[in-house]
Parts: sequence; structure tokens; C-alpha cells
Amino acid sequence: MNNRRRWFVACAVILFATVFVSGQTSQGKLAFIVSMENPGSHTYHIVFRCEGLRGATQTFKMPAWSPGYYGIMDFAKNVQNFRVEDGNGQGLKWERATNAWKVQTGNNPAVTLHYDVLATSTFVANPYLGEDRGYIVGTGIFLYVDGLIAHPVTVEIKMIPTWSSIATGLDRLSPDQPHILTAPDFDVLYDSPILIGNLVSLPPFEIKGVPHYFIGHRLGNGFDREKFMANLKAVVEQGIAVIGDIPYKHYTFLGIGAGQGGIEHLNSTTVPFSGGPALDTRAGLIRQLNFLGHEYFHGFNVKRIRPIALGPFDYDKANLTNMLWVSEGFTSYYSYLMVARAGFSTREEFLDNFRREIAAYENNTGRLFQSATQSSWNTWSQGPFGGRGKGGISKSISYYSKGAALGMLLDLKIRHDTKNTKSLDTVMQTLYQKYYRELRRGWTDEEFRSVCEGIAGTSLQEIFDYASTTMEIDYNKYLRYAGLELEKPTQLAEPYLGAIVENINGKPVISAIEPDSPARKANLATNDEIRGMNGGPVDTASLSAAIASKKPGEKIALSLHRSGKDLQVEIVLGQKMQRSYKILPLPNPDALQSAILLDWTRAR
Ligand SMILES: [Zn+2]
Repeated sequence: MNNRRRWFVACAVILFATVFVSGQTSQGKLAFIVSMENPGSHTYHIVFRCEGLRGATQTFKMPAWSPGYYGIMDFAKNVQNFRVEDGNGQGLKWERATNAWKVQTGNNPAVTLHYDVLATSTFVANPYLGEDRGYIVGTGIFLYVDGLIAHPVTVEIKMIPTWSSIATGLDRLSPDQPHILTAPDFDVLYDSPILIGNLVSLPPFEIKGVPHYFIGHRLGNGFDREKFMANLKAVVEQGIAVIGDIPYKHYTFLGIGAGQGGIEHLNSTTVPFSGGPALDTRAGLIRQLNFLGHEYFHGFNVKRIRPIALGPFDYDKANLTNMLWVSEGFTSYYSYLMVARAGFSTREEFLDNFRREIAAYENNTGRLFQSATQSSWNTWSQGPFGGRGKGGISKSISYYSKGAALGMLLDLKIRHDTKNTKSLDTVMQTLYQKYYRELRRGWTDEEFRSVCEGIAGTSLQEIFDYASTTMEIDYNKYLRYAGLELEKPTQLAEPYLGAIVENINGKPVISAIEPDSPARKANLATNDEIRGMNGGPVDTASLSAAIASKKPGEKIALSLHRSGKDLQVEIVLGQKMQRSYKILPLPNPDALQSAILLDWTRAR
């Protein structure tokens, strides 16, 4: 209790300090001053003072994207009124490139840039300025000097008088200058958003002496704040226990009010949060803890345990990786584990997370078209939750859902093959120690697999094939390692073909075939054009109506056009199955199955 009160007081000092040092410029050779005199105009004014530059020209760049959100944002388009002057206030010539400004500095070591940034979007990956708050996403506000990403930098926030507080993962220059922030380099600056306004703080907590804050704009009412933070602490503790280390000096949850999505950062995360009485309900609390646990665990998985493409970042272009099914999917997997290990969800509630993830994946036609590795790679072009093909059929999957399911399979496989002496936790600890702590880099796809297989002591070919192909997943094989299996499917009276047929330019074309389906048995093939049915013409609507009118076991005859040839195929329709994907315990588990099930969600 004492510690908590002490940190609350320290936090309050930072939050409510309003004293500014007038006329003082920031320390350091690269220093920003951010002002926002008229927040209703959604415009930040930025002064960027650079000292100690060398060379006749300098290139200043705005990142094209922001860590944690895998899409090109083109932040440079929001920059207005750019000008630059030398140490004597003389204007310097510059020219614009795609996301860069090339300045003729004429060997001047000191130049000052002035520019405005229009910040109108309230989306979590964009900077925003409005009447009630400012939210600075560094990649959309701060230019960097090309070649000086590793240079220390300071940011002075010139607050408007009616705003009292700044919340960020960045350090303060000094306790009595809470509005001057420092970063050891631009990577840290870009991975540390800054929230400004009349912010409020939920009661902070400490873990092993490290303070954790939850500060935000409009955090909402109607819930027990002390209890909520005690619950969050219990979940965070389970995240830390997976790795056995705390890699930051302080951590901040930044609440930006109502909204969608959260983004992880180095020692902070930005989350939509609006409190409310739902947090005092069991389901509402578990949902919120799963969400916050996910964002928090990213502090390990993706920020430190990371694919080699995800840091150091290239801010000019997409940073492609096959491994977001691990970075995102396993993070979801761990959030479910953390909430269960902290004692908030029962075994049934814990397993129900996987029913939901598996159903989302299995009920999506995209699983027949896209692997988890492709989904990771393509996210930059198709967005984090995929998209649809021309025929209106989903041809992409979510690496969140498939990744969470594969995380579970991998964990159960390692536990089984090591007689429950090792687990996915061992993999995460090993990746953290070897690649983050010792080698200080990300891992390659091969290194990731090699660590997993080294710990399992066996081949994990099948699981990695599940990740890199669209092959059907045998969930029960892995669930049985913990004495579990999927609920048996029930047979419906409806007929089943098992071919995905798309309307391509008015013609029905087979775009995918389900494994073990009547369509497969009849040797239907992808790209077959269906030109007729039972001797008459056909389109996608009449095809599905005809199938629906049949009974399982009845036949349909299709005229197909394949690779320039016509052929006739007769298909015996199967029986549609209804699958709940509910995970149930097996009767009479053996000792190892029982031990794995028990240990899996046990508190660490
Ligand atoms: Zn995530």
C-alpha cells in the first residue's frame, strides 16, 4: 500500500505539473518544440532545431509507417508550411521528395525547421489534435535527419494553459521539467506515443519495484478503479512470469477514450478505454483483460522477441515478415493464458477462446486460399484482417486466429514430447535470452523453428506446414496431448458438395475444393468453369439452389470446361456437418494428459 501511494504521488506530480520554463530551449543537438496554440484547428506546429550537422545538404524524412501498424500511412502528406532557416534566421533552399525534404544547408552546422502537421484522425495509429486532447504518434509528427536515427533527441511540449498533463513512455529530462521529454534515439521516440490534455490516472501499481501506470483521456466511470487495476496487475504479473524479466523501467497504458484497436509500443501501449460498469461484470472484465493482456504481452513478443524484419525498422517502406502469426497470434494465445493463470477465467472459459479462434478460421473460406505465413506477408497490402476476392469470397485469413490456434498446438506438442518438462514458455524465454538479450537482434524464420524444435527435441514439421500451407489442421491430435478433443460434429440433413464456386465475369468458376469432400472425390479442380448442370444451363445461384434441393447421397451431373477441354462429371453429394469447435475433456485421461492440462493454466 505504501509503495502504491508513493507512486501515485510521483505520478500526480508529473501529471499535474503546469510550470513551464519560459524562453528556455530544449537541451541537446536535435530538439523538437511542439506547440498547439489552436487545438481546434487540428494543427501541431513543430520547430526542429538541429545542431552539429555536417555537409552541404541534409535530408529530413517523415516515416512512411508506424511500428505496430503494418500499413503505409504516408504521414508526410499531413506536413504543411515547411520552411527551414540557418543559425542567423536566413531561409534555406529545399526541395521535396516523396517522404523527404532535401535542404541546402551550405555546411551550416545549425539549422531550424518549422512545419505544421494536420492531425485530424482519431485512429490509434495516427496523430490527433482536438479541443480536448492531443495524441502524438511520433512517426507522424517528427522528421528525422537521414543518417541520424541513432542520435539522441528531446521533445519540448508547449502546453496550452488549460491542459495539465502529459503521459508517455518517454523519460522526462528532469523531474521539474516534465514537459521536456528525452529519447536515446529516434527508434525510441517513434515507439513512444505522447498523450496530452487533462488526463486522469487509474491507481498505478508496482511489480518488482517497476511502476505501471494507466493514464488517459476520458477513462470513464461506473467501475471500481482500485479493483480493476489490481486485476490488471495480476494479469501483467503472469506475462512477466512467462519470461522472468522486466525489460523496462516504467510502463504506461495510454487510454485514448472510446475507439477500436490498440497498438503496442516499447514501454507503453495505446488503447481505447472508456471504463463503464461492464468492467465489473465477469465477461466484460475477461474481455478487457484479454485485450490489455495482448497489448501488454507485445512488450515481450514483437517488441523484444521479434522477427528479424521488425527492428531496427526501415521507416521508408513496408517491413515484410512471414511471422506475424507468431508475433500477433501467439500474443493472443498468451493473453488467454495470462488471464487464466491469473485466475480470472475457468478452464471452460479459457478453452472457449480457442473455440472462437478455431471457428473464425475454419468458417472462413480464406483458409483454402491463404496460409498464415502468406497472411503475415500480405498484411501490408490487404490490411490486418484480410480482404475478399473479385467473386466476393473471402480469400484471406486472420493471422490472429490461426496464429493463436497454432500457438496452442505448438505448446501442447512441446509439452507432450518433453513429458511436460518444457513448453512454449521455454521457447519464449529462450528467444528472449538468446536473440534479445545476447545477440540484440530479431530471429530469422529458420532460427525460430530451430529454437522450437531444439526445445521439443522432435520435428515440428507438421505444425510449421500448417503455418506455411492451407492443409487441414488435425486439432484433435494435439488436443489429446492434454486430454481434450473437439466436440464431435453432428450430421445435418443438408447436402454437401465441398467446392467454393465464384461468379467470375458472370460464369461459375471453382475457386477452391474442400479436403475430404464429394467435390474432391469427383476430381473437380480449381479453375474449372461450370458450364452446365444436369443437361441445362447454370449460374452460381441456380447451382446452389439445385444442390440445396437435393438430399445427401443424390447425384448431380456437371459439365465442366477445364484447360480448353469439356468434360462431364457426376458427383454424389455428401452430408453437411455442423461443427461447434468446442473443446471438451476426454474421459479417463492418462497421467501425462492430466499433468499437461493441469500445468498449462497454472499460475506461474
Ligand atoms: Zn497485437
